[in-house]
Amino acid sequence: MVLEEAFGVQSVWTLDGSWRHIDKVGMVAASAAARHDGLVVGGRLEVDADGMPLNAYLGELAAQVDWAHAEGARRVMVGFDAVSPVLALLRFRSMHDRSRSASYRDDWLASFSAELRLERFDVVIFYHLKSHTGISLNEYADKEAGVAASTEFYRTIRGVGRAAHASAYFGAFRGDRQKAERVFGAAVRARLRAESVNTQWLEPGDLRVPLRSASEEETLWLLASQRLFPADKKYHGERQAAMQAEQCPCGCGIYGWANAFLRCKELRLEREAVVAALQAGNIAMTCRILGVVLRQ
Ligand SMILES: [Zn+2]
Repeated sequence: MVLEEAFGVQSVWTLDGSWRHIDKVGMVAASAAARHDGLVVGGRLEVDADGMPLNAYLGELAAQVDWAHAEGARRVMVGFDAVSPVLALLRFRSMHDRSRSASYRDDWLASFSAELRLERFDVVIFYHLKSHTGISLNEYADKEAGVAASTEFYRTIRGVGRAAHASAYFGAFRGDRQKAERVFGAAVRARLRAESVNTQWLEPGDLRVPLRSASEEETLWLLASQRLFPADKKYHGERQAAMQAEQCPCGCGIYGWANAFLRCKELRLEREAVVAALQAGNIAMTCRILGVVLRQ
C-alpha cells in the first residue's frame, strides 16, 4: 500500500505459473496474470513449432509477458513469486542485439521488453512476493494458475518474433575456438582417411538415433522425478499413501521405482531388456567419431 500511494499506482497485477500433472493429458504448463479488478489473462501453454519442451519457468515467463500486453494504465505494480523471468529480462535488455538470439525463449523476452518500452508506462514496480506463505495476492495468482492448468484453454501467443535482434550465421560456428577445432579436425580426418587401409570409418547415416516421442519423454521425466511407479516418493498424495501399504507378491516390497529396477523378481525380463538396450546404446555411442576432436 505504501508503494502504491507513493508512486500513484493505478493498476496492480499478481502473477503465477503452474506446472502440474493433469489426468489424461500429462504434464501441463499454464500461466495466469490477474489484475486487481478481476481481469485474468493466461491459459495453458502450447508447445511451439520448434517443439521446445515446456517447463515451470515458461509458465512464469508467460504471465509476465501477458500482463505487459494486457495493461493500459501507465503506473503499474506487479507482484510475483518467481524472480528468474525478471532477471532474464534484465540480462536480455543489457545484451547486444547480436547476443540476444542465444537467450532461452528470446522471442518472448523480446516481446516482454518491447511492451515495457518507456512510452507505454511511466512506472512499473516489480514486487517479489514469497510464495506459499499465505500472502493473499500470491494465493490469488496461484489459484488462477491452477484453474488455467486444468482448463482446456490455450494462452494467446504474444510474440514480436526475433525481428529486433536476429543474427544470421552463414555456416559459421560461434566462437573462433570451435571454428578452428572443426576446420582443423576435418582436415586431420581427411588426411587420416586417405592414408588408412583396413580401418572401419563410421559414415554419416550409419546409425540413426531415433528421436524420442512425446510419450517417451513423459515416461523418462516421470521416472527421473520419481513419479512413474504408484508408490514412488513424489506420486500424488492419497494414492501414494494407499500404495505404500501394498506389497508386491514377489516379496520385493512396495511398488516403487527402486524395487522395480533392482529387486522385483516379477520384472526380471523387463530389466534384462533395459540393460540390453543400454548396452546397445553404449556401443553405438562409443564408436561415433564425427564429434571427436582429433589431437596430433
Ligand atoms: Zn516384486
